[in-house]
Amino acid sequence: MSSESKTGPAGATEPAVADERNPQSIATRAVRAASSLHGDERSIAPPIYLSTTFERDAEGEYSGGFNYARDDNPNRQMLERALADLEGGAEAAAFASGLAATMTVFQALRPGDHAVVAQDSYYGVRAMLDEVFVPWGLAITYADCSDLRAIEAAMCPATQLVFIETPSNPMMRVTDIAGAATIAHAAGAVLVCDNTLPTPVLQQPLALGADLVVHATTKALSGNHDAMGGAIVTARTGELWQRIRTQQKVCGAIPSPFASWLTLRGFSSLVQRVRWQNESALAIARFLASHPAVREVLHPGLPTHSAHAVAARQTFGTGGLFSFRVNGNAEDALRVAAHLRLFRRATSFGGPDSLVEHRASVEGPNTKTPDDLLRLAIGLEETVDLIADLDHALA
Ligand SMILES: *Cc1c(COP(=O)(O)O)cnc(C)c1O
Repeated sequence: MSSESKTGPAGATEPAVADERNPQSIATRAVRAASSLHGDERSIAPPIYLSTTFERDAEGEYSGGFNYARDDNPNRQMLERALADLEGGAEAAAFASGLAATMTVFQALRPGDHAVVAQDSYYGVRAMLDEVFVPWGLAITYADCSDLRAIEAAMCPATQLVFIETPSNPMMRVTDIAGAATIAHAAGAVLVCDNTLPTPVLQQPLALGADLVVHATTKALSGNHDAMGGAIVTARTGELWQRIRTQQKVCGAIPSPFASWLTLRGFSSLVQRVRWQNESALAIARFLASHPAVREVLHPGLPTHSAHAVAARQTFGTGGLFSFRVNGNAEDALRVAAHLRLFRRATSFGGPDSLVEHRASVEGPNTKTPDDLLRLAIGLEETVDLIADLDHALA
């Protein structure tokens, strides 16, 4: 995606366009990836290969290309190829959840290594690092990655990896991906970007210099609130990627054939869903920004957002997720959530149903999320209906 050639600010929906490597636009590639022809029957929708084991030839070879389903299976392979294609990567590896994918990235490091991690990356990532990887021997520095100087200050000789999530959630902070890549590479480290929120439809971190992208495919990529999954996409194959592939095989945190199939099915509608949710979310953010019961709207697509210019440079929108703060306290925020009729009170995002969540309650006593904040996940309902629902609940 050549972001320079497009004028849209974050929030203006521009499709990721064709480039030399990928002559077709992303919408076409997403549909093709989800439904190429299969088997002797030439079915349009792929079959689900439940077999855990595959036959060896008399000569001892596996001429079908598969031997055992933890190592690889046809549905996972289709999903991985599609993920690599959409992110513009060399290869992808699929996992049982977003956190299983993130875990595998950190497992590729060694005890004694150091990583710089965005201080407001997904709270489950921080819990995993603090509870598992720090005792295991990784050194972690949390940094405010919306400030490149803070990343630079956190680097040390042992730093192997910089982990960012942009925009972050629920605070919607933005990291300059190209700037972070320059800092990481100058220190001999790799840049890893969690691209779950914008998806490759709206943001392509590998083209901006990131080395690895991670996803919770559980969210918008599968898109229907019915399949857990995660992925790592790499810009290039090499020693780090071989370690990740080995761990995928020998540790076995893989998605089932059915989860892989469901996730890939989501790809055929991915571009249209993400565009719709992105536009709807921006319209709703504008409505809330002018509402007297709202203190602040956190959405990088609004010109009032502190990182609007950076977001506009590197993304075509932030998807269906954003947050706002009510004029009041935790009780007032919870009361607004309680009065919503269309928005379901649930965690997660990227599916057809719009969801609302009081993040401070979910994240617990150590949260840094303001307690007047509600996070909205915009689904596929008509925008005016969602605005009417919010207007009623805020009244
Ligand atoms: C949900 C999420 C994860 C974790 O994914 P799971 O599939 O729930 O394990 C990681 N990063 C981001 C940004 C997420 O939204």
